[in-house]
Amino acid sequence: MCLVKTAAGASKGAKAVPSDQANAKLQSGKDEANEPTWGRNKHVKPLTWVIVAFLLFFAPVIVEYVVVCMTQYDGALSGPINDLFLAEETITFSEFLIEKVYKPIAEPEGFFLQTAKIYVTWLLFQALLAVTVPGPIGYGQSTPAGHKLEYLVNGLNCWVVTHIFFVVGAWGFGWWKPTIIYDHWAQLSICMHLYGFALSLFCYIKAFVAPTHAGDVKTSDSMVFNFFMGVEFNPRIGSLDFKLFHNGRIGIILWTLVNISCAAAQYERHGDITNSMIMVNIGHAVYVLDFFFNEDWYLRTIDICHDHFGFYLAWGDAVWLPIMYALQSPFMVTHPHELNTNEVVVISAFFCLGYYIFRDVNHQKDIFRSSNGKALIWGKKATYIDATYVTADGSTRNSSLLLTSGWWGVARHSNYLADLLMSLCFCLVTGYTHALPYFYICQMICLLVGRIYRDEGRCKGKYGKFWDEYCAQVPYRLIPGIW
Ligand code: NDP
Repeated sequence: MCLVKTAAGASKGAKAVPSDQANAKLQSGKDEANEPTWGRNKHVKPLTWVIVAFLLFFAPVIVEYVVVCMTQYDGALSGPINDLFLAEETITFSEFLIEKVYKPIAEPEGFFLQTAKIYVTWLLFQALLAVTVPGPIGYGQSTPAGHKLEYLVNGLNCWVVTHIFFVVGAWGFGWWKPTIIYDHWAQLSICMHLYGFALSLFCYIKAFVAPTHAGDVKTSDSMVFNFFMGVEFNPRIGSLDFKLFHNGRIGIILWTLVNISCAAAQYERHGDITNSMIMVNIGHAVYVLDFFFNEDWYLRTIDICHDHFGFYLAWGDAVWLPIMYALQSPFMVTHPHELNTNEVVVISAFFCLGYYIFRDVNHQKDIFRSSNGKALIWGKKATYIDATYVTADGSTRNSSLLLTSGWWGVARHSNYLADLLMSLCFCLVTGYTHALPYFYICQMICLLVGRIYRDEGRCKGKYGKFWDEYCAQVPYRLIPGIW
C-alpha cells in the first residue's frame, strides 16, 4: 500500500518506531514492503570495482595534471600532451616528471618544507577552531544503526574568524603575504595529497581497530571498494567529527581563501583586479556562505547521512575540493579577463536564478521534513508519500516522508540542476580562450549525475515500492521533460 497524503493527514515523522512487521521480518527473514538494503551492499559488482579502482588511481593524477598545466603550461590543458607526443622535440616521460613536476615543487630548496609547515599549521588551526569556537548544537538524521548524532554547528563562526585572521595577518601586520596560497599552490597540492592519502588510510584502519560507532561500520567483499567508499560511517576523535571537519572546514573554508589570495596575486602582477575575478570571488563566497548559514541543513544531506568516510570523502575534501572547485581564480591570475557589461548582466542573472532555485529546493525539503510534512509549499499544503523502511539490521521500522509537490514534484533533483547552472556561471566569467576553467562544470556534471544514480539506488533499497511510487509521480530526474 502506498499512501499519498497532504499535510493535514500527516501522522508519522521520521522517528524510529518498533514494529511488529519488522519483528515478523526478523523471524521470516523477509520484508514484503521493502528490501532492507539500506546501508552497504555486501557484494561489489565487477563494474563498480573497476570504476572505483580507476578513480582511486586517476583522480589524484587528474588533479596533478591540472595543477601542472596551470603552473607550468600557462593554463593549457594540452601542454603536457604536446610536450610528450606532438612537439617537434618531444621530451620523455621521466624528463617530464623531473622538469615539470618534481623540480617546480622541490625548488628553491626549503620551499616545500616551508609549505608543509604552513599546511600543518592550517590543519591544526582549523581543528582548534572546530572544537573551541562556540556555535549551536545540530542533529543529524538517524544512522542505519539508529544513532542520532550531535554536531557543533560553528562553521560560520570558524569561517569569519579564519578570514579576519587571514586578512588582518596579511594586510594589517604583514605576517604573511596575501598571495601566500597562490605562491605555494604547486607545493600545497602535494601536501594536500599526502594528507588526503594518510587520512584515508588512518580512517580505514581506525574503522577496524577503534570505530566510533561499531554498529555503523559496514564492509563489502572488496577491499578496494571499502577503502574508497569508507568503512566507518561517522568517525570522530573526541568531539571532532571527521566528516563535518574535512568537508565543512579545511575544504570549504579554504575555497574562499584561495580566491582572496588569487585576487591579491592578480593585483600584484597586473596592478588591477578584473571584474571577472571579483565576480568569481563573490559567486563562490555566496555559495560557501550559503553552506555555512545553513550548516544545520547540511547535517541531513547525503554526505553526512549516507556516505561512509573513506577516500572519496577524505581525499576528496582535502584535495579535490580546494583545488578543483577553486580552479577559476588561480587561472585568472595569469589570464586576467575583463567582461563587458552585457556579459556581467547575463552571467549575474543566470547565477542569481541558479542560486534562487538551489536555495528554494533545499529549503523546501528542509521545512517539509522538519515540520513533519505540515509546511506550505508554494502556498499550498504539501503533498507527499508516506514511506516506511526498516533499519539496516531489520530490527526497527521507521517512517519518512517524500515530498511530491514544489520543486520536488518538478524533478527528483532540481537542486542539482540549479547547482550546475551556478557552476556554469563560475566558468563563463573566465572567458572563452582556455578549456581548463571549464573543467569545473564537467566534473560537476560527472559528480552530480553519479550522485543521482548512487542516491536513487540507495533510496530504492531503503524505501522499496514507495520509491517506485515517487518515481512514477515525479518521472524526471534532473531536467523536466528530458531526463
Ligand atoms: P539532496 O539534498 O537532494 O538529498 C537527497 C536525499 O533526500 C535522499 O537521499 C533522500 O534521503 C531525501 N529525499 C529524496 N527525495 C526526497 C523527497 N522527494 N522528499 C524528501 N526527501 C527526499 O542531495 P545532496 O545531499 O546530495 O545535496 C544537497 C545539496 O548540496 C544540493 O543542493 C546539491 O546541489 C549540493 N551539493 C553540492 C555539491 C558540490 O560539490 N558543490 C556536491 C553534492 C551536493 P532520505 O534517506 O533522508 O529520505
